[in-house]
Amino acid sequence: MITITKPKPFEEIKQYLKRSKGVYLVGCGTCATMLHTGGKSEVLSMKDKLEAEGKKVTGWMVIPTGCDPLAGKALETKADDINAADSILVMSCSFEVQTVRLYSPNKSVYPALDTMFIGKEERPGYFAEVCLQCGSCILGRTAAICPLVRCAKLLFNGPCGGSVGGKCEVDPGTPCGWQQIIDRLTTLGQLDQLEEIEPVKDWSTSVSGGPRQITFEL
Ligand code: SF4
Ligand code: SF4
Repeated sequence: MITITKPKPFEEIKQYLKRSKGVYLVGCGTCATMLHTGGKSEVLSMKDKLEAEGKKVTGWMVIPTGCDPLAGKALETKADDINAADSILVMSCSFEVQTVRLYSPNKSVYPALDTMFIGKEERPGYFAEVCLQCGSCILGRTAAICPLVRCAKLLFNGPCGGSVGGKCEVDPGTPCGWQQIIDRLTTLGQLDQLEEIEPVKDWSTSVSGGPRQITFEL
């Protein structure tokens, strides 16, 4: 499993940093390094680009695992360089951005990457979307195939009708997720599961069904 990220446009990053003269850079030694979005070479490349824009890069680090609680300890070791900056630019997933924010109460913290999904590396450099963490999983009624990541229209209750030869009408190079769901349910003798209508997804609810909350006791 890997958290998939992609670089934000440099213009967006410049916009975030428009009030910052000094910037501290943070990368991640796991997912972002593997994806070449926030490892050492990408951090150093960002340093060059920011310096070319007249920014002062007060320092940088690549935290071995940015989503680990030890990230705070890593940041403490560079407190002087971080304090010399106006802001911290994090070249990692949104989890690390928020981890850095927790340990940096007096600094602006900005993301340099977009966090896309939980993925699976199918071959080197090629990642399949597995889950977008919607918070109320419906794999139990869709033959363990996620329609949110396998259907281009994120349909919950069956195919759009545009599939041809098992391929998606939005992208004929991609298998139709709903065709896969129906084929598998048919094999399992459970196609009747789809007769039950899945209600419109309520994004305001938490995984427990109550109001959306920010902490959970699992
Ligand atoms: S339905 Fe399940 S697999 Fe699909 S995005 Fe939601 S949690 Fe992830
Ligand atoms: S063809 Fe299949 S995967 Fe594509 S949008 Fe329609 S139902 Fe979804």
